[in-house]
Amino acid sequence: MKLKGILPFARQLIDAAVSEGDIAIDGTVGNGHDTLYLAKIVGDNGRVFGFDIQEQAIANTKERLTNEGFSDQVTLFQTSHDQAKSLIPSPYHGKIKGAIFNLGYLPGGNKEIVTTPVSTISAVEQIIEMMAPEGILVLVIYHGHPEGQIERDQLLDYVTSLDQKLVHVLNYQFINQTNNPPFIIAVEKR
Ligand code: SAM
Repeated sequence: MKLKGILPFARQLIDAAVSEGDIAIDGTVGNGHDTLYLAKIVGDNGRVFGFDIQEQAIANTKERLTNEGFSDQVTLFQTSHDQAKSLIPSPYHGKIKGAIFNLGYLPGGNKEIVTTPVSTISAVEQIIEMMAPEGILVLVIYHGHPEGQIERDQLLDYVTSLDQKLVHVLNYQFINQTNNPPFIIAVEKR
């Protein structure tokens, strides 16, 4: 057996939870790789809601989706993911099957614009509430930059405190690698 790397494992979790026709969220669309991945899974009958605070990220994601022919099933919001509950229409609440948050800064963009613990935790809290039973939320945590370390610690405190009757929380991490490699926290709604 070969252990899965972080990004392939994140996708394996998403694959297990999200199917054709489902509803999913990309909490940090960035350059749109994960948004496209989700859009391909949910297909024409599903919907993906994507968030990013940067105009550049929304533009890059729009372009990627359009070029690949997957823009119809995606709604993009140029705003913080902590607005998820108010922006995602209420008929979708309780139906979210998968969500992904690739934290940190936009690759190729401004490294000073990073995800922050208060809005990330608020978004996670809202999405847990909106998820369907057995829905999965995947957080990929980058903690090589100073703000990433603060976010990591606060997120770990938050997810560790979640009621085990409500969610299962998994931590998938290579613990003998140097240079703070990214790791995964996955939250499955029971
Ligand atoms: N998954 C993306 C991809 O496939 O390219 C990469 C995401 S990148 C690591 C993190 C993104 O989070 C950045 O584009 C950044 O602008 C965005 N971000 C930072 N704070 C945010 C917030 N409060 N709400 C939504 N997005 C945010």
